[in-house]
Amino acid sequence: MPDSKVLPLGSPAKGIPSFAMRKYLFLLLIPCFSHAADNHAKNVILFLGDAGGIPVLNAAGIYENDRPQSLFIQHMPYIALSDTSSLNAWVTDSAAGMTALVTGHKTNNGWLSMLPGEAGRDGRQLKTILEHAEERGLSTGVVTNMPIWDATPAACYAHVDSRKKMAEIFEQALHPRFGDGPDFLVGKDWKKLAAATEQAGWNLKDGLGKAGYRVFENPADITADATRAAAIYDGSDFDPEPVVTRIMQTLSRNQKGFFLMVEWDMHTKATLVGIKRAIVMDHLIRKVAAEAPADTLIIFAADHSFDFRLIKASKGQPFAPQVEADLAKEHRGPLDKPVVAAGTEHSGEEILVAAQGPGAERLHGFIPNTRIFDIMMQAYGWNQTR
Ligand SMILES: [Zn+2]
Repeated sequence: MPDSKVLPLGSPAKGIPSFAMRKYLFLLLIPCFSHAADNHAKNVILFLGDAGGIPVLNAAGIYENDRPQSLFIQHMPYIALSDTSSLNAWVTDSAAGMTALVTGHKTNNGWLSMLPGEAGRDGRQLKTILEHAEERGLSTGVVTNMPIWDATPAACYAHVDSRKKMAEIFEQALHPRFGDGPDFLVGKDWKKLAAATEQAGWNLKDGLGKAGYRVFENPADITADATRAAAIYDGSDFDPEPVVTRIMQTLSRNQKGFFLMVEWDMHTKATLVGIKRAIVMDHLIRKVAAEAPADTLIIFAADHSFDFRLIKASKGQPFAPQVEADLAKEHRGPLDKPVVAAGTEHSGEEILVAAQGPGAERLHGFIPNTRIFDIMMQAYGWNQTR
């Protein structure tokens, strides 16, 4: 509020502002209201590059375009560097990493959207951003090129003390605490999941049917008229662009808005697979950003980084053949440095978070990974309840 000393002279009776004063207040309030209205997102899409740390993004841009900083992600208008540590470790696994992003709480490695209790077990269930959306009547979806019960998708819809409890995790998608649970479930490994649910005493296809899902064998088969669908596939990666844009179009029909999480794995244990998947996700985000409704907050984040480094490469020749030839080498002398070097483990340095759309301006500086939950909640205009 303005200091009374700077208000115009000729003060009116208490509680009845003078015309000049009202004009002054009016001018002050306009930017406040329009600012609040402009900043609200109807929809949020969270793109999660699993293990998509800065080193793999750097290599992916150069691999694709022979230019640094040439990914779409690297041109999103708001960025931050996020810590990824979990409650009990400086280097997180995907379960605790994703829990932080979707609940605003750090938990122990291996735990999904649940805090450990006194005895280390039977902790408190945390409400996820997907559950907040479901509770308010928004439509929701979870899409991944990893198993549908795996840590990243599971953190959106399940609450367990171990990411290994496959059947228990997926059962929670079908018996949600809020709304009717995710409206779209796209991910891998039908056979494994069906065997696990059978062992747990229930049939996967029947369970999905009872929960109102239309079941498709492949993500690409999901039809435009399917408002609630599951595509749990066996085999290699699908093309995410037609699938995610179709799901986005369907989710957009909900006047209240939607929440969509899309995970694409970028682990570089198999170096080229990780680099190429980072490029696939970048293309996907570019397309979705072009087609999403204007009131959509789009965020890219990794859950953690990975032990991967660009070591030696010449600018005088295309980068991709240098990487490929180097990876194909069977023998390497003691002085023969690799082009890229990939270990086998997650690593603890900060990851890039990038965003565009309403509410994205809150993303800046060095942040804890839990802040990403706050940014999504604030973008929707929802009160913070953790
Ligand atoms: Zn991960």
